[in-house]
Amino acid sequence: MKTPNQDCLELRQEVIRACLEMNAHGINQGTSGNISVRAGDQMLITPSGLPYEKMAPEDLVALPLDGSPPKNGQRKPSTEWPFHFAILREKTGVNAVVHAHPVYCSALAMNRQAIPACHYMVAAFGGCDVPVADYALFGSQKLSDNIIRALRDRSACLMANHGAVATGDSLSRAMWRMLELETLAKSYMASLTIGEPHILSDSEIEDVKAAFKDYGLKDSR
Ligand code: 13P
Ligand code: ZN
Repeated sequence: MKTPNQDCLELRQEVIRACLEMNAHGINQGTSGNISVRAGDQMLITPSGLPYEKMAPEDLVALPLDGSPPKNGQRKPSTEWPFHFAILREKTGVNAVVHAHPVYCSALAMNRQAIPACHYMVAAFGGCDVPVADYALFGSQKLSDNIIRALRDRSACLMANHGAVATGDSLSRAMWRMLELETLAKSYMASLTIGEPHILSDSEIEDVKAAFKDYGLKDSR
């Protein structure tokens, strides 16, 4: 008989592959970062503090999105479950949330510096900048509230003195966004070392958003 921890086996395997991909891409190391996906009326999230290479499908934790108590016998969910939970509840078009500590995103976040419209790809995050969520203790409800505020019209944000969050209508889209965000953060910082980047206007960014509609970038923020 299937135990609750074996439900959604393929999705659980997909999450573990994505976790390993984060480390392979160098946007995370050790046990930092976490991933969640929507699985019907539940959230599946990585467990807290377990190295990704040791993670098995049954280690992922299922939390009902209606707030009812989780099934017994599961591991401790990621400490960051409050913001994953809040995003999946608030944004019905989002089906996956990726959190990481990528070096360039984290450096900007340490300086509490949002990414302006210094590159057209900023539009892939929903608007004319990638904002920084205010600082709060990791795992806290306050941090969750701050992230929800920063993500109001955006699909990703930096997290002050911490890292970044990216969302998507699928796990592959959320992961793609996190990798694009780190590339953007890196080129923005390179640009700052040689002068002052030119910032695109709001209407130029609106044009990019319109052009993306024919380019496959179609998910709801
Ligand atoms: P968890 O191991 O609890 O997911 O925490 C990692 C992290 O990045 C906290 O912000
Ligand atoms: Zn973190």
